[in-house]
Amino acid sequence: MEIHLSKTVMMNDTLIKELADVAKDAALLQGVLMRIQETPNSSELVTYAPFTLFPTPVPKAVFLQALAVQTHYNTLVDKISQDTDFLEEALSSTIAVDDFTARLFKLHQQILKEGRSQSIVLGLNRSDYMLDQRDDGSSSLKQIEINTFAASFGGLSSRTPDVHRHVLKVAGRLEESQNILDNNPAAGLARAVAKAWELYGSERAVVMFLVEESQRNIFDQRYIESELWKRNIPTKRKRFDDVCKTGSLDQDKRLFVDGQEVAVVYFRNGYMPQNYISEQTWDARLLMERSLAVKCPDISTHLAGTKKVQQVLTRPGVLEKFFPDQPQVVEQIRATFAGLYTLDMGPEGDKTVTMALEEPDRYVLKPQREGGGNNIYGSEICQVLQGVKGSTERMAYILMDKIHPAPVQNYLLRRDAPLQLNNCLSELGVFGTYVRQGKDMVMNECVGHLLRTKSSEHSDGGVAAGVAVLDNPLLI
Ligand code: ADP
Ligand code: MG
Repeated sequence: MEIHLSKTVMMNDTLIKELADVAKDAALLQGVLMRIQETPNSSELVTYAPFTLFPTPVPKAVFLQALAVQTHYNTLVDKISQDTDFLEEALSSTIAVDDFTARLFKLHQQILKEGRSQSIVLGLNRSDYMLDQRDDGSSSLKQIEINTFAASFGGLSSRTPDVHRHVLKVAGRLEESQNILDNNPAAGLARAVAKAWELYGSERAVVMFLVEESQRNIFDQRYIESELWKRNIPTKRKRFDDVCKTGSLDQDKRLFVDGQEVAVVYFRNGYMPQNYISEQTWDARLLMERSLAVKCPDISTHLAGTKKVQQVLTRPGVLEKFFPDQPQVVEQIRATFAGLYTLDMGPEGDKTVTMALEEPDRYVLKPQREGGGNNIYGSEICQVLQGVKGSTERMAYILMDKIHPAPVQNYLLRRDAPLQLNNCLSELGVFGTYVRQGKDMVMNECVGHLLRTKSSEHSDGGVAAGVAVLDNPLLI
């Protein structure tokens, strides 16, 4: 394993300790905040959101490639969401064995049967990548997944550039500090929400953030709320329970919650089975889906973001179907695909099982879940596959090539964690937004980036899962 020895390693412990204190204060000053674990529903005590002491070098060409492909990914997600037959075929094996996806799919069918009541679609996506290390030392951009539901950290990552700029200056690295890119996904995400709100066309109607029970990461969302209020667009934070108790549709299917009309439902909750604690929660989701409110995402866009769909997209001819006259777009998207393999019943799936059992360390086994901590690695792949390989249960998973980014040394700053040098791996996210009205794409943008870094000891897990921390790319 190659380790990049940087100036970081040369600094002595006292200097690093001082710099870490400077960095934490800078994060607090800039509002890179999280509520503390003990009191997730109160802002009386907050701390900095975990972040790296130093920014991480990222090759410029690969970074630009990720930005350049984003609007095509937006288009792709949107096209998939409108292709009922494709979704049905792609997900047919999954829904036969995965109850949660099956439930979502049922909701989707219910909406189709009734007819979609709203022709305005709002997409806020984040496509995540790792840079796979090639033998010649160069790296290639490989997509880990695309998030069409509750893609987070657009708010906080709008504030981290100034933190790292400050740290580098204090560390005597002025020139490098000037290479930290500006980044403002919060403004970009809000621009798209604002567009959808305007098209909905009622000044009194609010943007409803459908939020989690435990709101530790509230500040990330507050940035977007704040951008909306700057435009005099009212926002409200509501939980599923509020919708259960006070939600209703009028005869035009306008959604009312707590007596207020809702123009846009921005889901920041509802992507995990455990978010649906009762049948009433499902009823609330259905109520919102049926309504005239713009949903971000709507149920079909939610399904377009599943890992099974990601795997099906890598099959020959599928991208061509979505972009029949645009071979360059197909090529640009496909260049970011890692190897993805079906576990459906049949010879192809059998081959995948054999491959995985022979060399489990080359792959990641993924169920249809979001939010970190669900994937399976190494010898555990064998355990799981031995159990399910002969039955349809295996269709709940897909297999993916494991990506190997070059490790970089850094310090991860996290409340109550010791200050130590770690071998780290990073994941680059790119935010994309779009608004469609009927057949017209009225907005399709790439609105910023997110770099998350974790210790290489961990195979899985995001910032919310307590594994990765916020970072910034330093283009090289
Ligand atoms: P989730 O929906 O839970 O975020 P992901 O597919 O993003 O699922 O996987 C979670 C984490 O696991 C990623 O952030 C990354 O750290 C790691 N991971 C996922 N896929 C791969 C892969 N193919 N190679 C290496 N690491 C991976
Ligand atoms: Mg992820």
